[in-house]
Amino acid sequence: MKTFVIACLWCVTLLTVPQSQAALQIVTTTEDLAAIAKAVGGDHIKVHSLTPGSRDPHFAQAKPSMIRKVYGADLLLLIGADMEIGWLPPLLRSGRNSQVLPGNPGYLDLSTTVTLLGKPTGPVTRDMGDVHTQGNPHYWLDPKNGLLMAQAITERLVALDPDHSNAYQRNLASFQQRLTDKMKEWQATLTPLKGDKVIAYHTSLIYLATAFGFQIVDEVEPKPGIAPTAAHLNRLIKRIEDDQIKLLIMESYYEQRSAKFLQDKTGIRIGVIPQSVGAMPGIGDYIQLFDTIATTLKQAGTF
Ligand SMILES: [Zn+2]
Repeated sequence: MKTFVIACLWCVTLLTVPQSQAALQIVTTTEDLAAIAKAVGGDHIKVHSLTPGSRDPHFAQAKPSMIRKVYGADLLLLIGADMEIGWLPPLLRSGRNSQVLPGNPGYLDLSTTVTLLGKPTGPVTRDMGDVHTQGNPHYWLDPKNGLLMAQAITERLVALDPDHSNAYQRNLASFQQRLTDKMKEWQATLTPLKGDKVIAYHTSLIYLATAFGFQIVDEVEPKPGIAPTAAHLNRLIKRIEDDQIKLLIMESYYEQRSAKFLQDKTGIRIGVIPQSVGAMPGIGDYIQLFDTIATTLKQAGTF
């Protein structure tokens, strides 16, 4: 039955993909990658994200529309470091496009372009939760990594489409300039957070913490991907009180009951931040993402 469904999806795919495409067709696993690609590719590329920024990127369900996008792509950009391990490999098998398979010019894993943090030091076992063995994949939340990702995407666009090399290089220079200027502004806004101890929901904020100089000392999840238990929340209450932790930062797609419970018991403030472009209305590009994060943390931290 499963084979039959995939075969049918495949027929639909063949019938609906246009054969001649002038602009480079780019498919990304997240909206952050799509936004950075758009910033450097401009009008010479067409970009489609496979997942919306409002959803948890660890999970996605393969749909015929996603298979069609993979089939028609010249280039696939992914976060890598096992972020999409649960859903991208089967999608690539159904997409039947060798150009965008690992090792080919149409496959770019951006995790290879940055320094990953949080690599587990000892052996990884199942009871450690959803630990990413290659390191923490939430690296786009450090804007310095955005500079490196833009650079790597530009190099690949130039290799695939050398005719527009000048345009890509120009767009890259202007994106990097805007981002570098903005980084100074965000640093200034978030200076009061420097050195502060903060609680996160999931182990997703170490890059943001590194970028802006605060410390994540604990998480609402007892282990990555594992729902909080009463015992863990009680332990956190004690930790928040002992260490006088004032701020809990979490992504908008997690349940907020546990955070509200901690707030009721300790008075800790909660900052619900967008984790991706498209996570909330008005966040259409990578710079607006950090604009919103900086404003949200400023309001939540009341500084
Ligand atoms: Zn994660």
